[in-house]
Amino acid sequence: MSDQAVLEGVSVDTRHWIGGQRVASPGTFTDVSPIDEQPLAEIAAGRAPEVDQAVAAAQAAFPGWAAMPAAERAALLHRVADGIDKRAEELAVVETRDNGSLLRSHRRSVMPRVGMNFRYFADLLRDLAQPDREIRGHRERITWDPAGVTAVITPWNAPLMLATWRIGPALAAGNTVVAKPPEWAPLTASLLADITAEAGLPPGVFNVVQGLGPEAGAALAAHPGIRRMSFTGSVPTAGRIAAAAAPNIVPLSFELGGKSPLLVFADADFDLAVSLAVEQFDNAGQVCLGAFRILVQDSIAEEFLAAVLEKARAVVQGDPRDPATGISCLVSRLHLERVDGFVQRATAAGATVALGGAPNRELGGLFYQPTILTPVPAGAEILTEEVFGPVLTMQTFTSEDEAVARANATRFGLAATMVTGDPERAERVSARLRAGTVWVNCFFVRDLGAPFGGSGQSGIGREGGTHSFDFYCDLKNTVFAPNGWTGPGASHG
Ligand code: NAD
Repeated sequence: MSDQAVLEGVSVDTRHWIGGQRVASPGTFTDVSPIDEQPLAEIAAGRAPEVDQAVAAAQAAFPGWAAMPAAERAALLHRVADGIDKRAEELAVVETRDNGSLLRSHRRSVMPRVGMNFRYFADLLRDLAQPDREIRGHRERITWDPAGVTAVITPWNAPLMLATWRIGPALAAGNTVVAKPPEWAPLTASLLADITAEAGLPPGVFNVVQGLGPEAGAALAAHPGIRRMSFTGSVPTAGRIAAAAAPNIVPLSFELGGKSPLLVFADADFDLAVSLAVEQFDNAGQVCLGAFRILVQDSIAEEFLAAVLEKARAVVQGDPRDPATGISCLVSRLHLERVDGFVQRATAAGATVALGGAPNRELGGLFYQPTILTPVPAGAEILTEEVFGPVLTMQTFTSEDEAVARANATRFGLAATMVTGDPERAERVSARLRAGTVWVNCFFVRDLGAPFGGSGQSGIGREGGTHSFDFYCDLKNTVFAPNGWTGPGASHG
């Protein structure tokens, strides 16, 4: 069987990357393109032995990488970013085939951000050192010491961007990494391994074990050699990973699902609010931060729904490689059935379909129509569970208090978006929304320096800026006694 898959002219190695070598497995799994449901590649299916090998390689590489002067480490990570930028077009076309997301988004925003995930944290590393502090005559030093081997387990909806958002800071911190890419979109992680080798990263600093979640993922989560566990994915998987990692007392950083609200007040810029609502169909709704619960003030609800429907109907659904396409397909047949199941149960519970509500029969395959459900009966599953597809609900509210109560009526808390023309309302309401990120009159504005993560079941911890280093490092406080210090006493405390 071939170790290479060739997609759109780009050759991708289908084996693991461990200790600077390609490693095969006895078994493989089939990677299928969601665009046409055709097989793309047979990928090495790692299990505990390959995970053991990768963790051992990462452990062996750790002392050298951790001891490397920060400026040298940063320079190497800049070379990785240069390699990503150089191969951005290859990464974009492969990722589009692999997960079905829009090619133009990969070109315009996703792949540039992948490079930034290395560049930003490499630069930040240079500013980490703080001057020593004088404390009761003693000299106190705070350092961010590398913690060890970091496991990175990530999903398929933006595979390379989400993986490197964790890999970039972990490597910059001086940790070594074992990444387990998503089985539904595993290919660009393999290209990243090639890029890190070309950039001169020492063998074992970055490793990739391909495989299925319950096999490779579970073995990695439970491995006693892991010192940090960085996971992006669903809440049920997070629970399994937390349980597996618990006996080893491994710090966790979890970025999980959401059911975020979009609040539209009657005083909002109407066109902006309509655009933001329709924008939620981006990536066929396979976006953790998506605001899928639209809450609109009742005085404008009818007019607002009509405008949203008109704009949504104009979005072209089709092949993600076609520049005219605004909404593409879902990632797998299993996922399409899951999304449709949510919609069918919602209508059975009394929700009304205002738009879509079924697979796109004209296109067939994995294309699901952009769907809006309104009204939806209180207590319906569709109002509380994450669908991860192009399915919006619309509910109304009368007062500001009611809007806030409905927005916060979720066990998640990843993001919240509000649209209002009243600056005082913007201050009041945004302060009361329970979410890791709140956007006022905007959406998806992300800064790598800002804390990012979720409240409630949307996650554990925050990454971004120095928050990332706080997680990936062991913070250490060293206290130097002054010359001639003779023992404890007054300086205790
Ligand atoms: P998932 O939880 O099914 O899988 C995520 C990763 O976990 C995959 O690599 C999978 O192989 C692995 N995995 C599965 N079972 C495992 C196990 N037992 N042990 C270890 N690893 C295991 O999620 P998904 O369906 O791939 O992705 C969608 C989810 O990800 C949604 O809930 C979405 O909201 C969330 N997500 C969150 C963010 C964020 O930043 N908060 C970003 C993107 C996606």
